[in-house]
Amino acid sequence: MLDRVPLTPPKRDPNEARTLTKVVATIGPASEDRVGELIDVGLSVARLNFSHGTDEDHRRRVQKIRAAAQQRLTAIGILADLPGPKMRTGSFANGSVDLVENESVRLRSGNGQAIAGEILIDVPDLAVQVHPGHRIFLNDGQVELVCEDRYGETVVGRVRRAGNVGTRKGVHLPDSAVEYALPTDEDRRLIQLGNELGVDFFGISFVGHARELREIRTLVDGQHLIAKIERLVAVKNLEEILLESDGIMVARGDLGVELALADLPLTQKALIESAVHAGKYVITATEMLESMIHSSRPTRAEVSDVANAVLDGSDAVMLSAETAVGSFPMEAVRAMAEVARAAEGSPRYARVPRLKLTPNDAHFYNATAMAAVQVATALDLRRIVCFTETGNTVRHLSRFRPKAEIIALCPDQSVVNRMSVLSHVRALLFRREPSLEDMIYMAAEMLVVRGIADYGEQTVFVAGVPPGVARSTNVMKLHRIGEEVKFS
Ligand code: PGA
Ligand code: MN
Repeated sequence: MLDRVPLTPPKRDPNEARTLTKVVATIGPASEDRVGELIDVGLSVARLNFSHGTDEDHRRRVQKIRAAAQQRLTAIGILADLPGPKMRTGSFANGSVDLVENESVRLRSGNGQAIAGEILIDVPDLAVQVHPGHRIFLNDGQVELVCEDRYGETVVGRVRRAGNVGTRKGVHLPDSAVEYALPTDEDRRLIQLGNELGVDFFGISFVGHARELREIRTLVDGQHLIAKIERLVAVKNLEEILLESDGIMVARGDLGVELALADLPLTQKALIESAVHAGKYVITATEMLESMIHSSRPTRAEVSDVANAVLDGSDAVMLSAETAVGSFPMEAVRAMAEVARAAEGSPRYARVPRLKLTPNDAHFYNATAMAAVQVATALDLRRIVCFTETGNTVRHLSRFRPKAEIIALCPDQSVVNRMSVLSHVRALLFRREPSLEDMIYMAAEMLVVRGIADYGEQTVFVAGVPPGVARSTNVMKLHRIGEEVKFS
């Protein structure tokens, strides 16, 4: 019985800032000293953009994030987002060039300074890859050219959409089969750094093929790989990419350059749905609360966008510059969490994409998880408690999007951190006990002490026996918190 439980109320109600959908925020100069406050208003995953900053910056930020999480006895995942092979323009004598409509421009491979009338692009064999009719996007899609001709190493492009092109601006060649190496040498170096710093996820930028993920898998230290879907070829190869990744990111910034912008909202929905059905998690990212870089309040359109991403079934929604360099990082995280909570509270949220409760895969863990979700629905339970070694059953439970929150208890801190991105899941570090009776007893006690569950609350436990064995989920136990646990 629970007579040993010292029922001191927790200082802060741990249920207060919770959302089912997780908030990912990029930590940068504007937020690195406020991570604790960001956690208090709803942050679950801290993203480090490895395209910017020094190794020292990343190291210091990892320390600050870990310290803030530890102080709050909570698990925060750290996502190291690798730069990948982003094609860029070389430099210009005057810093930039203005391209006017219908002007003809010469483009060549290179990354130095261009001579007048020319643009350099840091991709090898440009004139081999780009054929007449192919589109060439410069300055992240602001300027558009079409290849008209090629001679030698030169591509001749005609300007379709005029504008300014500056030094080292992003280039996209959506029609050309440009094969650049992924991971790049810089990615490899940064993976080493991420391993050393013990990050939990790597974001894989500009992935196009499953083989790239297989290669990266051999370099990482157990981290999850989040495939950023930001090239047309990645949308085409989505199925094979999903198989080799742990989750995906709808990276709307770069994807929006290669895709007709009008197709972006529907592509977002399709990507999310595919991920859920493949049993993988999905983060929707970029420009979600963009105006909050400078404003303490979001626009109406941004609030709608966040709510719609939640209703589309995203596991997590992401902030980039808003929290990394913006003036209102706290307000941005708080706004995102509030909007997510409101959307999750609506009847419409019951319609998010989910795995169907059908025996679609004949494994013990699937059958046990399905049964627990059905019990939770039948009894209108507020929580499903799952003991997990690898996080596998928890990820599966999360795909069902049950009404109940999933409490994941796991003895491995890295696995706990990696579950922080899953919608509906609250992951906690929990010591392994020799018997399932002890596990359930200790878990119930901890949930009451931490203010997560109430004494007398009905709940359902999902576990594997014997305890401590990976991939052995085979037990579902209905339980009233505080009651004695005895199996024999
Ligand atoms: P990035 O990725 O911010 O690293 O470019 C996200 C995106 O392209 O949307
Ligand atoms: Mn990108």
